[in-house]
Amino acid sequence: MPIELEAIIGLEVHAQMNTKTKMFCGCDNDAFGKPPNTTVCEICMGHPGTLPVPNKEAVLKAIRASLALQCTVNRENHFDRKHYFYPDLPSGFQISQYDFPLASKGYLTFDIPPSPRVGGVGGEGLEKTCRITRLHMENDAGKLSHLGASTLCDYNRAGTPLMEIVTEPDLRSSDEAVRFAEELRRVLIAVNASEADMFKGMMRFDASISLREKGTQKLNPRSEIKNLNSFKALGRALAYEENRLRKLWEDDGGPLKGSITVGWMDDEGKTRILRSKETADDYRYFPEPDIPPLRLEEEMLENTQKTLPMLPREQRKAYIAMGLSPAEALTLMSQQGLRERFDAIHTETADPKLASGMILTQLIGFLNVHSKTMASAPSSEEFIALAKAEISGRISSHARKEVLEKSVMTGRAPMEIIEKEGMRQISDDSVLEDWVAKAIAANPDAIASFKKGKEAALGSVVGWVMKQTRGQANPGKVTELLKKKM
Ligand SMILES: [Zn+2]
Repeated sequence: MPIELEAIIGLEVHAQMNTKTKMFCGCDNDAFGKPPNTTVCEICMGHPGTLPVPNKEAVLKAIRASLALQCTVNRENHFDRKHYFYPDLPSGFQISQYDFPLASKGYLTFDIPPSPRVGGVGGEGLEKTCRITRLHMENDAGKLSHLGASTLCDYNRAGTPLMEIVTEPDLRSSDEAVRFAEELRRVLIAVNASEADMFKGMMRFDASISLREKGTQKLNPRSEIKNLNSFKALGRALAYEENRLRKLWEDDGGPLKGSITVGWMDDEGKTRILRSKETADDYRYFPEPDIPPLRLEEEMLENTQKTLPMLPREQRKAYIAMGLSPAEALTLMSQQGLRERFDAIHTETADPKLASGMILTQLIGFLNVHSKTMASAPSSEEFIALAKAEISGRISSHARKEVLEKSVMTGRAPMEIIEKEGMRQISDDSVLEDWVAKAIAANPDAIASFKKGKEAALGSVVGWVMKQTRGQANPGKVTELLKKKM
C-alpha cells in the first residue's frame, strides 16, 4: 500500500511598517519615487560612531499588529545584532530581535472557501487557525539592481522598519498558505501597521516546506524558499516544491537528509538550490550594545488594545450584513484608507449605498482610470462634506461624481471645487422650467415615444438637461416638471 504524505508548511513574513521615519534614524521612510540614495544618513548607512535610536511609532505599530494577532507582548524585550556580509547591508549587521522578541505565541484564524479560488469568501467554507510563533522588529536592507556586469546599490530602503512574523508549521497546502497570508495582510492594514503594498515589496515571504507520513508527528528537514514577493509566487513556489519533494521521497524512499535553502525562479516556474541552511550560530547574534532593552508598561499595552479596530473577519461579516457583497467587503480591507473613508461616510449618513457608491465605485474607479494612488484621494472629512452637500440638495449626485473625479485628478478639495466652479444644484422652479421647455424642443423624438407610452424615453430628456447644465440641475425636479408639462 502506498504511503500517504502530507505537506508541513510554515511562513516567515516581512512587512514594512508605514511610519514617517525609519527604524533607528530620522530619515524619510517613504522613498517611493525619490532618486536613489537621497533618503539616507550616517545612521542608516551604518557609519562608525553613530547611535541608533528606536522609532517609537514603529514600536507602537508592531505592538498593534502583535495584539491583533493575539500574541503576548513581552514587556521586556531587546534588540540584537545579526551579522552577515552583503553589499546591501552597509554596517555588516542587521539590528533585529533574537531571543527576546517583542511578542510571541499568537494565532490567526482565516477562511477557506468551499472550493478553492471560486466563489469568494463565506458560505460553507472551512475555518482554519495558524499559530504565530513570534513577531519581532528589525530594519530592512538596501536594494541592489544588477545591470549587466555591474551592480547598483540604493540605500533608501536601508533602515525601513520591518516586522518579521514567524508562524508555526500549521499550514498543510499552498492554498492554505496563500489564504493565511492574505488574511494576515488584511490584519496589518486594519491596524494601520503596514500598507502591505505587494507591488512596492512592502510584504515578502519566506516559506518552509517538508513532507511527512500522514498520522506521524515528526518534523523532517525542510526546504526554505526565500524572498517570495507576491501571493501568486508564494502559491506557485510552494506547489512546485511540494511536488519536487514528493518525487524525491519516491526516489530516495524518504525525506530530505538535511534542510536546504532554495530560490524561486519565477520566469522558469522552478526552485533552485542556493545553499544548505544556515543556523543561528552563523549569524553570531549578540545583544545590541547601543540600544537599551525596551520596557513596556502594562497600562500602555491595555490602552493600545482598546484602540484596535474590529478585525477583518468580523468586519467582513458586518459589511455583508450591511448589504455589501463578500468581494466588496474584501476590497474595502485591501488597501490602507478605503475602509476608513467608507466607515466615515456610513457613520455620518447611515447610508451604506451612498458610501459604497462613493468609495467602491467612484473613488476606486477614478484612481484606476487616472493611475493615481490613495495619496490623491480626498480625506474622510472631505468625503463627509461632499456627501452632506448632496443630501442637503446643494449639489446633484451627477455633480458629486464630477467633483470627486476632479478632486482625484487635481488634488484639490471637493468643496473648493464646488465653490469655485459654481457647481451648486439648480432647484429653482423658474430656472428649471426654462430648461424643460428647451429640452422638449430639442428632443422631439424622445418626447414622441414618451407620449406613445415609453416611460424610459424620459430618461434621455432628463439626461439632456443634466448635460446642458453641467450636472447642476436637480434631476428629480426636472423629471417632475417634464411630466407635468406633458
Ligand atoms: Zn537615516
